[in-house]
Amino acid sequence: MSTIPERFAAVHQRIHQAAHSCGRDPQTIRLLAVSKRQPTNAIRIAAEGGQHDFGESYVQEALNKIRELADLALTWHFIGPIQSNKTKDIARHFTWAHSVDRLKIATRLSEQRPATLPPLNICLQVNIDNEASKSGFTPDAIAAAAKHIIQLPNLKLRGLMCIPQPREGFDAQRRPFRHMCELLNDLQQQGLALDTLSMGMSADLEAAIAEGATIVRIGTAVFGERI
Ligand SMILES: *Cc1c(COP(=O)(O)O)cnc(C)c1O
Repeated sequence: MSTIPERFAAVHQRIHQAAHSCGRDPQTIRLLAVSKRQPTNAIRIAAEGGQHDFGESYVQEALNKIRELADLALTWHFIGPIQSNKTKDIARHFTWAHSVDRLKIATRLSEQRPATLPPLNICLQVNIDNEASKSGFTPDAIAAAAKHIIQLPNLKLRGLMCIPQPREGFDAQRRPFRHMCELLNDLQQQGLALDTLSMGMSADLEAAIAEGATIVRIGTAVFGERI
């Protein structure tokens, strides 16, 4: 059994290794610790070790944790499915939303972002494997959606996010991430100032980093199994 600090150290090591093997600066890759279904105390231990960014997937669970940990200066990222009736809470209590998957959700988040806060950083979720079971914009719908959403006043469109199908092996894992990198490049060439690829989880962070991930979302590798 490893401790949470040992697990974080091992993941930082993996990120550094992966960055060096493709000639990237490890500082350009942000570790988002996915704390969904982990106890508040685990987040406290991670924060004491210097971790600032935490990702949550369930609004009610997240709001409880944000309240309990209000004494810490943490940055909260929403990464789960976004229902319309939850946009207000997300707009009020988070700094990032990675899983924006419909225009309607983006519009509501912008309308409900309090004027006292800076714009909400968002990523558009891409259904990169065109799976019926997954939400997200299809790759061919991304450009039109991005051009619309970038004009919403209280959002800051940062880039793209995906959750690919699980694949075995480095080369197979890289394929959907390469597609994401191409989609981001296309948008940048069309003049959109985007800087974020939110991709890579515990099992495939090396492949994501090889294809340009700037945020890796890591749960079990840093915290252990979820409860
Ligand atoms: C749970 C989750 C993760 C983390 O997954 P692990 O395999 O535990 O690293 C990352 N991204 C999203 C969207 C998730 O829901």
